[in-house]
Amino acid sequence: HEAENRYRQNHPNSQNLHEKAIGILPGGNTRSVLHTDPFPIYMDRGEGNRLIDVDGHEYLDLVGEMTAGVCGHSNPIIRDAIISTTTKTGLNLGATTAAEASFAEKIRNRFPSMERMRFCNSGTEANLYALSLARQATGLNKVIVFNGGYHGGVLMFLHGVAENTVDKNDWVVGTYNDEEGVQRLISDNKGIAAAVLVEGMQGAGGCIPGSVKFLHSIQKATKENGMIFIMDEVMTSRLAPGGLQSTIIDPQGNAPLKPDITTLGKYIAGGMTIGVFGGRKELLSLYDPRPFSESNVQKQPAQMSHSGTFNNNTLAMHVGLVALSAVYTPEVCTKLNALGDWFRQELLDRCRGTRMTVTGVGAVCNIHFGGSHEDGLEILRIEDLNARRSIDDSVLGDIFWFRAVQKGFWIARRGMLALTMGTTRAELQGFLDFVED
Ligand code: PLP
Repeated sequence: HEAENRYRQNHPNSQNLHEKAIGILPGGNTRSVLHTDPFPIYMDRGEGNRLIDVDGHEYLDLVGEMTAGVCGHSNPIIRDAIISTTTKTGLNLGATTAAEASFAEKIRNRFPSMERMRFCNSGTEANLYALSLARQATGLNKVIVFNGGYHGGVLMFLHGVAENTVDKNDWVVGTYNDEEGVQRLISDNKGIAAAVLVEGMQGAGGCIPGSVKFLHSIQKATKENGMIFIMDEVMTSRLAPGGLQSTIIDPQGNAPLKPDITTLGKYIAGGMTIGVFGGRKELLSLYDPRPFSESNVQKQPAQMSHSGTFNNNTLAMHVGLVALSAVYTPEVCTKLNALGDWFRQELLDRCRGTRMTVTGVGAVCNIHFGGSHEDGLEILRIEDLNARRSIDDSVLGDIFWFRAVQKGFWIARRGMLALTMGTTRAELQGFLDFVED
């Protein structure tokens, strides 16, 4: 109560704006994850890795737009690309432009499993398109997903069942990081399931990394059972220059993961709204609109249409190309994630002797309340987090969030942190000192 009262006192303008918004948006909200009781803090603006709220408080931005904001707020190169697109090209032309193939080529250079790809407008859309492609290619309907998985606003599996999905019966929900279980699930659903859809690290589920064995066993079993392996890299592709898939090396074959389809989104267009789905060229050629051309692998008229007004929007195409070429380059990506690895280890050290622990990969992590990393219990799946967390732990997590905000650290209420490029060791040290305190 004390933490909450102080929060109310410090944020009168946010409270007023929230009370106004309640009259038009349900709960004053249009993005569920951003609601925080008693009311969310309203931000006025962002500069680099700083946010300034409507009551004038400044924060170190450790949310990083839930990983999409890795380039920082108003990055000068991104800003120039936006200005030059709007002044020299104009917004969507209702026609094909050169930037589309250039941006796609840039993406393929980084993620070679995406031999062909198509653009859309969000990670949710990219996953929906990937699923419809897998269903068309196999003639099957069900899809295997995992408890704790999050693939978009209408593709949520955070509580063991399908939430918000269009059809609740389309899903088989497996256990994450259960290598034997997934093999059984895949062989039991041969001829029934079109695809396995999986995150290499469950992001919204608590930043829980998938094991090498688990992910490679999915790749192998899907191939053997006629299913499509879809890897959702909407959040994780920023964790290595070639995405998380490039780092998950099969111990026997010495090869990285090669999903049939990969989905991207979030930061991939430098902060513009974007989704990408791409993969094996035979699969993607189902979209080839030229009926009988040489390179139409299907040798038949396009089976699928993918026509979205904003799929090739000029801002996403131009700014995306610039972002991957000159801002979030492989070098910057490697450096930021190395900093993240250091930071995560330091956080873990601070958690010793408390009921806190930390999970994650590179510059994306999650602080959890409940249990400790010293009790020997590994966190392999969301069930492990739920089993550890008592009501007291949840309250402790809330107090931690109120205190972090009060001290000028913007973190997600659920404890998730995603570092923004340009963030310094000294800034992170400030947060570590706060955690220690
Ligand atoms: N997939 C994953 C792994 C995500 O983390 C998210 C967003 O948080 C999505 C898909 C959905 O992306 P979007 O919010 O752009 O629809």
